[in-house]
Amino acid sequence: MTIGMDMMLVPWLAKLLAITTFFTTCEVHPRESKNECNKFCLDCNDNPLCGSCIKYCHKDHRVIQIRRSSYNEAVKTTEIYKHVDILGIQTYVINSSTVVFLNKRARAQPKRYKIGKIGHTNDSLCKTCDRNLVDYTYFCSLACKNMFQS
Ligand SMILES: [Zn+2]
Ligand SMILES: [Zn+2]
Ligand SMILES: [Zn+2]
Repeated sequence: MTIGMDMMLVPWLAKLLAITTFFTTCEVHPRESKNECNKFCLDCNDNPLCGSCIKYCHKDHRVIQIRRSSYNEAVKTTEIYKHVDILGIQTYVINSSTVVFLNKRARAQPKRYKIGKIGHTNDSLCKTCDRNLVDYTYFCSLACKNMFQS
């Protein structure tokens, strides 16, 4: 059986994108060293989990780790591409890992990236939120791609 990669068929994506409580301290494991809720279990499709939650209860589940870059939550492309089609989404490099953002930037003015050559105009904009994109891609984040398709 093949599982469709159409984002609308990915049951956990809406839940993942709606979570606003990543990086809080786990209520179940306040005394453990790995207690920051920065993980999401695709099989359980529930609230964010800490390293100890994963170790004790989600060992054989599909888990992705959320990373934070300034105001954005991101996920490594190497972790997410197996589970959802990220084609056309702008990627960024954070701590030498390639990531995609989960949601569009909440903060007002998007940064202007000046990495192009002089005279090079970058007119790539997110098809959903009009945010400036660095590369010739279509979406700034998983959320924007998901919104565009649904
Ligand atoms: Zn926990
Ligand atoms: Zn699980
Ligand atoms: Zn966008």
